[in-house]
Amino acid sequence: MWIVSMILVVVASLMLLARHILVGKHKAEVERRKAEAISRARCTYCGGQNVPRTKKCTYCGAPLR
Ligand SMILES: [Zn+2]
Repeated sequence: MWIVSMILVVVASLMLLARHILVGKHKAEVERRKAEAISRARCTYCGGQNVPRTKKCTYCGAPLR
């Protein structure tokens, strides 16, 4: 019966590995989006940190991309 427990151990570790990969990918995506939002909100003229999705810089009035 040792082979059954061996299979169970292998399956369990594969599931853990898959979960780890999925969570890691999700985290990377979240971090990427955060970084994107921050870089978008940063004014290229004065470097002021604006609220994401603001169209104009609140510090110098320059249009934000
Ligand atoms: Zn600015």
